[in-house]
Amino acid sequence: MSLDKVYAYIDANTDDFVEDLVKLVKQPSVSAKGEGIQECAELVEKMMQEIGLSTKIFHEEKGNPVVYGEIKSKKSDRTLLFYDHYDVQPPEPLEKWMYEPFSGKISDGKIYGRGASDNKGNLVSRLKAVQALLEVTGDVPVNIKFFVEGEEEIGSPHLEPIIKKYKDLFSADAAIWEFGGTDRRGRPNLYLGLKGVLSVELRAGGASKDVHSANAPIIPNPAWRLVWALNLLKDKEENILIEDFYENVLSPSSEEIECLRNIPFEEEETKKELELKKFLQNKSGIEALKALLCQPTCTINGFVSGYTGKGSKTVLPHEAVAKLDFRLVPNQNSNEIFRKLVKYLKNRGFGDLEIIKHGCTEPTKTPINDPFVKLVAKTAEKVYGKRAVVYPISAGSGPMHLFRNFLGYPVVSVGCSHPEANTHAPNENLKIKSFIKGTKFIAALIGDFAL
Ligand SMILES: [Zn+2]
Repeated sequence: MSLDKVYAYIDANTDDFVEDLVKLVKQPSVSAKGEGIQECAELVEKMMQEIGLSTKIFHEEKGNPVVYGEIKSKKSDRTLLFYDHYDVQPPEPLEKWMYEPFSGKISDGKIYGRGASDNKGNLVSRLKAVQALLEVTGDVPVNIKFFVEGEEEIGSPHLEPIIKKYKDLFSADAAIWEFGGTDRRGRPNLYLGLKGVLSVELRAGGASKDVHSANAPIIPNPAWRLVWALNLLKDKEENILIEDFYENVLSPSSEEIECLRNIPFEEEETKKELELKKFLQNKSGIEALKALLCQPTCTINGFVSGYTGKGSKTVLPHEAVAKLDFRLVPNQNSNEIFRKLVKYLKNRGFGDLEIIKHGCTEPTKTPINDPFVKLVAKTAEKVYGKRAVVYPISAGSGPMHLFRNFLGYPVVSVGCSHPEANTHAPNENLKIKSFIKGTKFIAALIGDFAL
């Protein structure tokens, strides 16, 4: 396959590719509010059909539609699957945007809009890479599958049953995950895994209604009960105290530590931006990175009870609520951690607390020495002219485990984004240059995967 011809096609069609991305950005698809979901799914399906993929939209009983597309290669049995999502984060706060969040405004060589980078830019870049291969060679070097869901930004709560029900359809030899890009020095990033997350709510109750705080000697105070319960979960040295919490944690291998050393970590910039003198426990360098990427966490997301308004109010609240999340690392399991949490609090006299499980995804990673990881890194280096930066795992979460663990193939995350893309924030954008380079990278990757 002549990659030069494919690259030339991509260059010659840049304006059309940008136009398609703008069209997709203009279609709101906010899963948190259920806004524009069906319309966006149909638009994605149409874009797939336009380049020659056969498609299917999965409307399950629960959850937003999943758009699936595929095309078979005439000469290869290998299959590469792309996981993407068409839903986006809410655009708020609206007043911070330079242009309307769903305008797809092009300015300064960038396409602005919610989803421009996460994840519509990546999705369109992959579709266009496939289009370029088809137009130039009349075939795809390997079988291609696209799995594009509509609930990634709300934790993919309905994905598991679909994956399990249609597991044969979603089988592949490897998958490319949704996100990635280059760093400030133009080096391509590879992410080999994701942390899991378990979100829980703890509720303590007391009297049937708020009472005068003069009653404190005889009426139980749920705010205190919740504080005491939370105090049992973690000590001041940041150790999580739930029994056997660390039981299945895999510590990073020496190869992974080596990778961490190669990761640019902008410590000083981050501290400055957050107006912090130091990180937690004064961590820095490799220790901070190791903690960030390889350690599980227990975080209080919020705590509400009683009166916190102006001045004072001598009241004894009737309930207290805390929300927490646990970020999990391989090989922890969210159900197991939830069970351990419930048992631990019960054994320490807090069986009266209501403990609600909200959402969860499992941690996963593809081993650093997997041949697919090597192939992606090699192609990235070839296309970008710089050695790839490999993250053994990312600090974020997502449903990657369903593909990696359940469907059982290697998964690597790479993409066409850049450090100033403002994903999830106002003024999200994608540089047209990054978009086009990323499209070439995916085309090259599909070609190399056939070899
Ligand atoms: Zn996102």
